[in-house]
Amino acid sequence: MRVDVLGVAFDNVSLTQAADRAMALLEEEGPHLAVTPNPEIVQRAGRDPEFARILAGADLVIPDGIGVIYAAKILGRPLKERVPGIDFASALMERMAGAGKRLFLLGAAPGVAEQAAENLRAAHPGLVICGTHDGYFQEDGPVAQQIRAAGADVVFVCLGFPKQEKWMAANGAAAGARLYVGLGGSLDVFAGRVERAPEGFQRLGLEWLYRLVKQPSRIGRMAKLPLFLVSAVGARARGK
Ligand code: UDP
Repeated sequence: MRVDVLGVAFDNVSLTQAADRAMALLEEEGPHLAVTPNPEIVQRAGRDPEFARILAGADLVIPDGIGVIYAAKILGRPLKERVPGIDFASALMERMAGAGKRLFLLGAAPGVAEQAAENLRAAHPGLVICGTHDGYFQEDGPVAQQIRAAGADVVFVCLGFPKQEKWMAANGAAAGARLYVGLGGSLDVFAGRVERAPEGFQRLGLEWLYRLVKQPSRIGRMAKLPLFLVSAVGARARGK
């Protein structure tokens, strides 16, 4: 059963359940899409019908971001837990390593995906990373062909939203993988270029605060978050 949070329907899954479901999707012909909406993505979907349709059609919609969890609570239909995209990716890679599944990394500046691949192979012994490509290309076709030639089962698509979701929807069939996961800036973190918040911040759901202190330029993006919760209060009052 999915839980509607301001127009985006989320799967009410724990981290473990999300990773298990993703593995189950690999048993069937693709392309399957997994998306990790945070409040910014939900807000964007509200004014971009094409993006909203892609999210609604995704096979796995994971609640990334504490704001989504708060909004669901305000709306009176709480979600189990916050599942940060990066934790989901790590849990999935652990399972993939055990099952011999092949991963392709797409996105970020030149060199980042390769560095991420090196770090991830060390972190998940046995993980097969069958190829990488940066996220600054002009034509989709050759990239999709490269993924197909690599025989990828899963592709982490890290182009930022909504570009990554639109790319997955448009090119998933051509690239031949079974599962595409939209993961924003995760490759920068896996490559060690961007630091993740210390665990204390993560536990308290304050990862956003840490990111803001580290990258104050994000203030414009984050200022919209309180509005997101206000929208949830409004929707609740209107009985939605
Ligand atoms: N990016 C990319 N191609 C583009 C635009 C962005 O590969 O055309 C990458 C960018 O280098 C970064 C990621 O997409 O690695 C977006 O990171 P951000 O933290 O802004 O994304 P979020 O997680 O907030 O969606």
